[in-house]
Amino acid sequence: MSQEPPTTEPPLARRVFANRTLNLRAMKAIGCDMDYTLIHYRHELWESRAYEHVTRRMAQTGWPVAGLEFDAEFATRGLIVDLELGNLVKASRFGYVTRAFHGTRVLAHEDQRRAYARVLVDLSEARWVFLNTLFSLSEACLFAQLVDRFDAGKIKLPLDYRKLYDAVRNSVNVAHMEGALKAEITADPDKFVVQDAELPLTLLDLKHSGKTLMLITNSEWSYTRVMMSYAFDRYLPRGMGWRELFDLVVVDARKPSFFTESHPMLEVVNDEGLMRPLSGKLERGGVYCGGNARAIESLLGLQGEEILYIGDHVYADVHVTKDVLRWRTALIMRELEDEIVAAESFRQGQQQLSELMEQKTALEQQQSTLRLSLQRLEAGYAPPVDTHGASAHKTQLQALRAKLEELDRRVSELAQRSGELGNKRWGLLLRAGNDKSRMARQVERYADIYTSRVSNLLYYTPYAYLRPPAGSLPHDPK
Ligand code: IMP
Ligand code: MG
Repeated sequence: MSQEPPTTEPPLARRVFANRTLNLRAMKAIGCDMDYTLIHYRHELWESRAYEHVTRRMAQTGWPVAGLEFDAEFATRGLIVDLELGNLVKASRFGYVTRAFHGTRVLAHEDQRRAYARVLVDLSEARWVFLNTLFSLSEACLFAQLVDRFDAGKIKLPLDYRKLYDAVRNSVNVAHMEGALKAEITADPDKFVVQDAELPLTLLDLKHSGKTLMLITNSEWSYTRVMMSYAFDRYLPRGMGWRELFDLVVVDARKPSFFTESHPMLEVVNDEGLMRPLSGKLERGGVYCGGNARAIESLLGLQGEEILYIGDHVYADVHVTKDVLRWRTALIMRELEDEIVAAESFRQGQQQLSELMEQKTALEQQQSTLRLSLQRLEAGYAPPVDTHGASAHKTQLQALRAKLEELDRRVSELAQRSGELGNKRWGLLLRAGNDKSRMARQVERYADIYTSRVSNLLYYTPYAYLRPPAGSLPHDPK
């Protein structure tokens, strides 16, 4: 383990990005989620095991899942299931659908327009399900595949897309809760976990700077204990175990309701997970099960703005936490690392695209002016802009049209390549066409900062003042 904090600024993919100013020095307590926050999984593997458990279970109750296979590239986080039409969609920050799949097939432009021209995605409606975490990918894939089979008449039950989704959701839920899937992971963490040797030092720095560190996870104690020990113990100073890093551990936290309700708390009394109702007060150093965020605030004697919570689940970890408790929030988005590298490799193409768009705008302006000039010439109500005759106008217009068509061919080829960065079907997580995506809206609204992994904080130190860039507006001088 390197003992020196790195002094050179990390590459873009490893930076911490701020939506709102966050003074890390002022944070008195830091709560961390575990799965996909402190512990990153090879999600394509984890999800393929989840998919296997789910389909096996569904097959036992007669669902026609034979021959189906998990496709890790089919969906990304931040997409939205449309329960009414059986679609998976990507939406812009304003809720306009920019791409849609029905089952596993992309919707042709005209079909997409017909389905969504008058529809805005509003996540508060029961029609939409937002994919909040990498744990959602197997669910989205299986739902789409079953939509195909349902449309093909292979599912005989009286169903609609919503009930179909509920069936998949329930099976995924059970797979996570019964022991078999987790037992596979704990039996061979090497296979599933991407280790991060810099993470323990990052947390040690934070702890020794005087902050209270908490682990607050929805995972159960038996799973948490094995996974945390696997991910941390080997990198900690001799004689120190992961438990000593944290002032408080909460398992089975039941986020998001952990942040909104007042569930009772149990105390975990031994490593085997024996529990008893909490008799006295919460104590530093304890391991607890369930409970609620208010109890933690009062144990620590802290207000929301002194606590930073770091998690990967867009809704359960940052949305509710910010909305209800006004805790400071950090969203972990591991996908950013590959996406930033992909976007950087296309920088030249992006530059060309911008130049072509500038040329297009200039040609379109010429075209509009000529059209107007011809209109005035023919109607005679005002002097034309161009003094040449009508046939000269028409020849020039024809030439412009040809140029624009050629330009459009080049633009659309580059725009397609740009739209395939990150994920070939869906593009980059935070982009939707030319605009920001609905996911980007969630991130900027609820996450004070976001970054690809917790250890990116190592460079910034516990004393950093993280500031957002100035917000841009269309009328800003270029
Ligand atoms: P956290 O991210 O550390 O809070 O932990 C997430 C936990 O939630 C993991 O133990 C997952 O297995 C579990 N989980 C993810 N999706 C579901 C679900 O749909 N139902 C029940 N548990 C889930
Ligand atoms: Mg998590």
